[in-house]
Amino acid sequence: MILIGVTGGIGSGKSTVCSLFEKKGNPIFFADIVAKEIINSNGVVLQEIIDSFGNQVLDSSKKLNRKILAEIVFENKKLLDELNAIVHPRVFESFEQWKKQLPSKCVYALIESALLFESGFFELLDYSLAVIANDDERIMRVTTRDSVSVEQVTARMKQQISTEELLELSDFQIQNNGMLTDLSSKVNFFHTLFCTLTSPKAIE
Ligand code: ATP
Repeated sequence: MILIGVTGGIGSGKSTVCSLFEKKGNPIFFADIVAKEIINSNGVVLQEIIDSFGNQVLDSSKKLNRKILAEIVFENKKLLDELNAIVHPRVFESFEQWKKQLPSKCVYALIESALLFESGFFELLDYSLAVIANDDERIMRVTTRDSVSVEQVTARMKQQISTEELLELSDFQIQNNGMLTDLSSKVNFFHTLFCTLTSPKAIE
């Protein structure tokens, strides 16, 4: 079983790429969704977050206000690292459980993670695929998809790993500046390729 991490900056199209792979029947672990669920539903995690960030992250009914938490951490890299240190180990545990239930006939599985390299998740996997798109295209997509300003998207982009770093760190890249039909052809190409891969760990 080959494990391939899919990553990319905001609006690059990693979720779109993953949904195209999913249509081919490949299992996908959605690390970002799992992280959100852990933050929302794990009482121990909530307490650790309150210990680190204070009651300011709670709303009037003592529930986590994710918007305030996001505002705090996205303005401060150290606090973001602190939040990630609380959440990522739990995401890895959940991933280990998820792996156990994969069907044995499965040739490869994907892991969608916006923080594949920053979190260290890539070290648990065999290969990485970065989805790359031009900044202008990404800004246009995100401002169309969400009710956010160009400034908000740009600020988020600045906090993320750069395209140059992604190109350097990833094993494979998909350029996603064109039409969805082009993207679909690229996914078909990588699907065929991934079916032929061997784990580098098996070669070592
Ligand atoms: P985020 O990190 O913000 O979750 P993402 O990298 O997962 O973003 P997507 O959600 O897949 O990106 O794509 C962003 C938006 O752009 C979506 O609305 C998606 O439908 C659209 N999109 C992605 N690729 C293309 C494309 N090639 N052509 C047209 N629209 C696209």
